Amino acid sequence: MSKETDVLDEHLKANNLKKTDQRFGILDIFLRTAGHISAYELHTLIRKQYPNIGFSTVYRTLKLFTECGLANEVNFGDGRARFEKSFRRVNHGHLICSKCGKTKEFTSAAVDKVQKQIVGEHKYKPQGFRFEIYGLCNRCQ
Ligand SMILES: [Zn+2]
Ligand SMILES: [Zn+2]
Repeated sequence: MSKETDVLDEHLKANNLKKTDQRFGILDIFLRTAGHISAYELHTLIRKQYPNIGFSTVYRTLKLFTECGLANEVNFGDGRARFEKSFRRVNHGHLICSKCGKTKEFTSAAVDKVQKQIVGEHKYKPQGFRFEIYGLCNRCQ
């Protein structure tokens, strides 16, 4: 079992949710994706293995992954929810081109520092972090 499977297993137990093969099957497929995948794209992938699975089941399962820290929901301003793997990943922000739609990830020690500072000032216990910059990429300018 992978670490991710353990995380899901524990989360299901803690919330009295059923340990279904399908939930772990979806996790397996999700973990093999790269970058930022929309729920629709993931639904298409998952249907190859579970032909009868509905979109809402996939979406709810992704939400479940988000709750236990396996996935992160990202929004690039086009109204489509996208998900990315978040387990043991470092904080990162996104640069989104509003013309071609390309996205880029970045990490910044300075941003991390500011975030910690803000969290401290407001005595918050952070559960997630989002930093998105919208604009025109090098090519589209
Ligand atoms: Zn662009
Ligand atoms: Zn990302």
